[in-house]
Amino acid sequence: MQDCIFCKILRKEIPAQIVFEDDRTFAIRDVNPQAPTHILVMPKKHVASLHDCSSEESMLGHVLCIARNLAEHEGLHKTGYRVVLNTGAGAGQSVFHIHFHLLGGRPMKWPPG
Ligand code: 5GP
Ligand code: ZN
Repeated sequence: MQDCIFCKILRKEIPAQIVFEDDRTFAIRDVNPQAPTHILVMPKKHVASLHDCSSEESMLGHVLCIARNLAEHEGLHKTGYRVVLNTGAGAGQSVFHIHFHLLGGRPMKWPPG
């Protein structure tokens, strides 16, 4: 997608701290972190949101497993971590290329605002 920020990062047109990459997935540090660790994990394939997924079970499962592995790598499993998937503007989604937020390193409140 030409105008998508995350596709531009993937094409190296915008700089970002890439913390993981494989053939179908990549992960970057959030530019405006909401926790000591705040990583965005996403597929390389441009899909706008969870609600635009139809037969993407394997991709979603893979991205979630990468989030789990990054949490382990960052040591977040010791105190707990949160994985968030905002879907739609009303739920706080601002970049319409599906991504999981991996947040950790501080206590988390529930319910989220
Ligand atoms: P959303 O609001 O769509 O769930 O999450 C989008 C996230 O992308 C936000 O947390 C925001 O800080 C992050 N973000 C937006 N633009 C950039 C960017 O250019 N680089 C990086 N690394 N993160 C970005
Ligand atoms: Zn994109």
